[in-house]
Amino acid sequence: MSLADLADYEMVSPRTLAEACEALSEALAEGTPVWPVAGCTDWMVERHLRPVAQQRERGLCIDVTRLRELRGIEERGDVVRIGAAEPYLEMRRSELLQRRCPMLVQMASEVGALQIQARGTLGGNLVTGSPAADGVTALMALDAQVVLASATGERAVPLGSFYTGYKRSVRRADELVVRFELVLPKEGAAQAWRKVGTRSAQSISKASVALVAKATSVSAQPSSVATDPRARSRSGRRSTSDS
Ligand SMILES: Cc1cc2nc3c(=O)[nH]c(=O)nc-3n(C[C@H](O)[C@H](O)[C@H](O)COP(=O)(O)OP(=O)(O)OC[C@H]3O[C@@H](n4cnc5c(N)ncnc54)[C@H](O)[C@@H]3O)c2cc1C
Repeated sequence: MSLADLADYEMVSPRTLAEACEALSEALAEGTPVWPVAGCTDWMVERHLRPVAQQRERGLCIDVTRLRELRGIEERGDVVRIGAAEPYLEMRRSELLQRRCPMLVQMASEVGALQIQARGTLGGNLVTGSPAADGVTALMALDAQVVLASATGERAVPLGSFYTGYKRSVRRADELVVRFELVLPKEGAAQAWRKVGTRSAQSISKASVALVAKATSVSAQPSSVATDPRARSRSGRRSTSDS
């Protein structure tokens, strides 16, 4: 797909979550192919990878980057809410995340390179569903939940039960990813992020691991361990009394 091909797609930029959910459910009801899009760093690649028979398929893109409900990094008591359309670059710049979730900041600073960090989002990372998704790995170690919204309302799903198989999840086609919520680790709590790629930038993880120490356990989430993203959530949560 070239940039010129983008002109063949209709693009709408709703200003409220309710408008976006309505546009999504209307397109589905009419049988129009429809994609919510944020940074497009995965979506444009997905266009290339479609089977040849679908290469001429066109449809509607719903730009979610202007939805206030999907933006921002906000502290609410013990919990931080991270908008699904907030780019990695804003996570790197967040004073709150630097102080309480340095592991997330480290992860964000190693996604692709600056160009990808300025566009890419956690919402896109989650929906693409790659077993090598760095954002998902880090959020799972932090026991995050995702909030999904449709024209009929919102629901929260723990990330550990979001995926049902390779690139399959409990998200319905009429649902947008709105935000992620997680309980902030205590200031100074041990956290670590380690990613191994082919080179230091623009490189997908060959393996990565996110570690968060809790009062009585250590949560360790590896990535790229299997094609099934559920392998992450089945992995190591160790009580400190285990050895
Ligand atoms: C050069 C390069 C390097 C990369 N490096 C890394 C890396 O180091 N680590 C890594 O994990 N990934 C990497 N990626 C993959 C990609 O950048 C990330 O997965 C990114 O987080 C995708 O976010 P996006 O906003 O661009 O998603 P998009 O491309 O906009 O969307 C991806 C998918 O999610 C859907 N979607 C997007 N937002 C929503 C929403 N709010 N609700 C519902 N559906 C939605 C879209 O329909 C689409 O199916 C890289 C990609 C490239 C091209």
